[in-house]
Amino acid sequence: MLEVAADYGERQGRLDAIAAEVRACTGCGLHRTRTQGVPGTGPVTARVMAVGEAPGENEDRQGLPFVGAAGSLLTDLLQGVGLSREDLFITNVLKSRPPQNRDPLPDEVAACAPYLDRQIALIRPLVILLLGRHALARLVPTAASISRCHGQAIRADGRVYLPVYHPAAALYNGGLLATLREDFLRLRALIDELEAGRLGEPGRRAEAPAGGAAQPGAGAGEPPPPASAQQLALF
Ligand code: URA
Repeated sequence: MLEVAADYGERQGRLDAIAAEVRACTGCGLHRTRTQGVPGTGPVTARVMAVGEAPGENEDRQGLPFVGAAGSLLTDLLQGVGLSREDLFITNVLKSRPPQNRDPLPDEVAACAPYLDRQIALIRPLVILLLGRHALARLVPTAASISRCHGQAIRADGRVYLPVYHPAAALYNGGLLATLREDFLRLRALIDELEAGRLGEPGRRAEAPAGGAAQPGAGAGEPPPPASAQQLALF
């Protein structure tokens, strides 16, 4: 009991330390145009981690992820399947807003990569929800396009990912909303299956070292090298 509490406190402290590093980061040119870094929010105990693309205008102003229109839809989609956004750790591939919300550049993705990798290694989520093509390309680079693999669970690098369309895509194209809702039902089913241990890893989170490096990408918390992605036969 006490050991669990100590482990929790230590991991939460490390997660908070990553957030402080993000806020002070000058690792790419975006620090010159952003208002502030947006590390992500949620408890280190989150079963689900949601990864979007990059902070937008509202996120940049408030320092929190998914607080604009896409965030409202995300909250609604989660609530629709009985999940609360407070239970998730929500973050982005990029921790700083690109000017005019343009697509992330490769050097920006590379500069931010250690932060996301260390957050994942500390949280050890049961499922990583990939919100849109940039999150998919960053974390499962071998996967097919988002239009082909959305709603299908992927096991790679000892982790379970579920790619879905980015909520903002459904704001522009209302036809995607029904698909997103269906895919969130799959998220619910996937969580239930994984917790019940029916998918080969009996109720366990993906094993990853508990992090602890003070510098991005250094030491424990380093992710394993990319392995080939394997689609889970779930539905
Ligand atoms: N879109 C994203 O990808 N992330 C946010 O935080 C907000 C909008």
